[in-house]
Amino acid sequence: MIEFVDLLRQYEAIKEEINHAIQQVINDSAFVGGPYVSKFEEEFKDYIGTKHCVGCANGTDAIELGLQAMGVGPGDEVLVPAISWISTAEAVTMIGATPVFVDVHPDFYTIDIDQIAAKITERTKAIIPVHLYGQAVDMVSLMALAKSHNLKVLEDCAQAHGAQYNGQTVGTFGDCGTFSFYPGKNLGAYGDAGAIVTNNADIAERVAMIGNHGQQGKHNHLIEGRNSRLDSIQAAILSVKLPYLNEWTEARIRHARKFSELLDASKVIAPNEIDNGKHVYHLYVIRSNDRTGMQEYLLNREVQTAIHYPQALPLLPCYQRFGYRMEDFPHAARITSEILSLPMHAGLREDEIEKVCALINQF
Ligand SMILES: *Cc1c(COP(=O)(O)O)cnc(C)c1O
Repeated sequence: MIEFVDLLRQYEAIKEEINHAIQQVINDSAFVGGPYVSKFEEEFKDYIGTKHCVGCANGTDAIELGLQAMGVGPGDEVLVPAISWISTAEAVTMIGATPVFVDVHPDFYTIDIDQIAAKITERTKAIIPVHLYGQAVDMVSLMALAKSHNLKVLEDCAQAHGAQYNGQTVGTFGDCGTFSFYPGKNLGAYGDAGAIVTNNADIAERVAMIGNHGQQGKHNHLIEGRNSRLDSIQAAILSVKLPYLNEWTEARIRHARKFSELLDASKVIAPNEIDNGKHVYHLYVIRSNDRTGMQEYLLNREVQTAIHYPQALPLLPCYQRFGYRMEDFPHAARITSEILSLPMHAGLREDEIEKVCALINQF
């Protein structure tokens, strides 16, 4: 079986270091907070190029905490793309605000910047661009638009560790950027983990406070917060993996080039890359007018694929209350019916890519 993501293959390559790091945390009994968390926060802010990084429990919480820290709350509207993992919209409703969906660009599948202005009302408070599949949104245009309407920007970078636009790393453009270190992400922990990066000291301080029961110092609860902390074992694992991330990203990009070179363009649509972007290929997503048949055909021949995502966010049953129809999001509706994510991880081998492409070209 050619697996969609092979986490064991990565572990085998760095086993000694990982095992040692976990053992160290146990030996130190430093399970929550403390030096392992601060160390990773320092390293990750340097990697991304922001002044601050605050760890939290997962990438969904990161969005929620970031929005709260930026002052978004009940009564506010937040613009989100029609295609993303549900967390992007869920975090908005969790803080009492309302997600307003914007259709996606027909070629890049990320938020269609030209359609944002029409969705802005006097209640709009923020925009969440999602660097979907590892491809950066044109953050120069998006920031200019946000500025002219006085909107906050939270970049959802859960799929885009190290992606760039115009040579600048994503997560550094907006008021803050949020990351997930879910095991299958480009930088993955061995459980749930997340972080917020920002150049704004006030946002960093508020995120840290809200995620640790509203405390500033022990037992000084200035506000009611919650518990969303980065686990120390996960932080220690992430510190081991971070130095490998660039190498892994280059491997992903190489694999993507190979796929695009071998796939028959008359059969499927390969991913399009935005000008001036650096796509880090969290996912390699093709389009086919028979993706269900293709998925089954591949599975029967030992190739695992996935769909990210089979339905546009506004059309999910949980958002029925908004009364959206397919015609409201023509690009997202069409794209979600055609996409198929091929196996993609740094450890993928060339012969595996060749096999997958040969099968697709035969289909
Ligand atoms: C994975 C993901 C998240 C959520 O991260 P978790 O760590 O799973 O909570 C948010 N947004 C996007 C786009 C994601 O892919």
